[in-house]
Amino acid sequence: MTERITGHTELIGLIATPIRHSLSPTMHNEAFAKLGLDYVYLAFEVDNQELKDVIQGFRALKLRGFNVSMPNKTKVCEYLDALSPAAQLVGAVNTVVNDNGVLTGHITDGTGYMRALAEEKIDIIGKKMTLCGAGGAATAICVQAALDGVKEISIFNQKDRFFDNAKETMKKIQDNTNCTVNLYDIADVKRMGTEIDDSVIFTNATGVGMKPYVGQTLLPDANMLRPDLVVSDVVYNPLKTRLLEIAEEKGCRTINGLSMMLWQGAKAFEIWTGKQMPVDFIKNILF
Ligand code: NAD
Repeated sequence: MTERITGHTELIGLIATPIRHSLSPTMHNEAFAKLGLDYVYLAFEVDNQELKDVIQGFRALKLRGFNVSMPNKTKVCEYLDALSPAAQLVGAVNTVVNDNGVLTGHITDGTGYMRALAEEKIDIIGKKMTLCGAGGAATAICVQAALDGVKEISIFNQKDRFFDNAKETMKKIQDNTNCTVNLYDIADVKRMGTEIDDSVIFTNATGVGMKPYVGQTLLPDANMLRPDLVVSDVVYNPLKTRLLEIAEEKGCRTINGLSMMLWQGAKAFEIWTGKQMPVDFIKNILF
């Protein structure tokens, strides 16, 4: 007879659509089992239309917390009681904790990114970074980097709806932190070269590199990279994107998106349980 789930077991959820491909249920359930914590983590296919009812239901059932992914990360803020400082600046949430009926939203993607760098002893505090992207992942990274003390961030994005989003993010960061933010059209190749020259790290924070863009990169010229530059990618499938292949050839240190993904999950785990996720153990299970 299994004693894994009893009348005492508490539920932690994940709401998104599509969601069946997610690695988070395996990550969290394995970590709960490893540490002997009496929780179970389940994924629910939830879209914006059902969101209000779902959050009400989660409140009524007194869930300890839940993760939120697309398309609900922004909309869910309307139904929460409080937001962390980073979630307020990003305007999105990927983790919610229920403390005695008070639902507080956090965004752990940015802390995941910063922790992934710290684990590799890469220090970008007080320095400059250049990144491509202005969507959810990029915004979370920029906000957390600015809150943690990165001095200057240069964002490159194509002129789509995310470009306007980046203008707002830029203003919010500059009003609330000491970080300077620059925003450029990704078509400005010459400017990208000079910004990378002044930076300690170059990051791809878009989906270019994963399906349907496998084998592609937004870096226009391999010669923009130099051996003492760190190059990172938020994409973790494939683990080695075209950008990281080029960076390796140029002798750069590279960081793939797996570590960020693990550490954003680890931060959520800590918020719910107060315990450190056994990250090395989980990494071996997932990959
Ligand atoms: P999003 O839809 O919010 O933003 C997409 C961004 O990519 C925008 O800046 C958009 O302008 C840009 N973009 C899209 N297609 C492009 C193209 N063809 N050329 C140039 N730019 C293009 O998405 P998101 O939530 O920010 O996710 C971006 C990537 O980050 C995804 O691959 C996602 O899997 C990954 N991600 C990884 C982690 C992690 O923990 N490693 C966490 C969150 C997201």
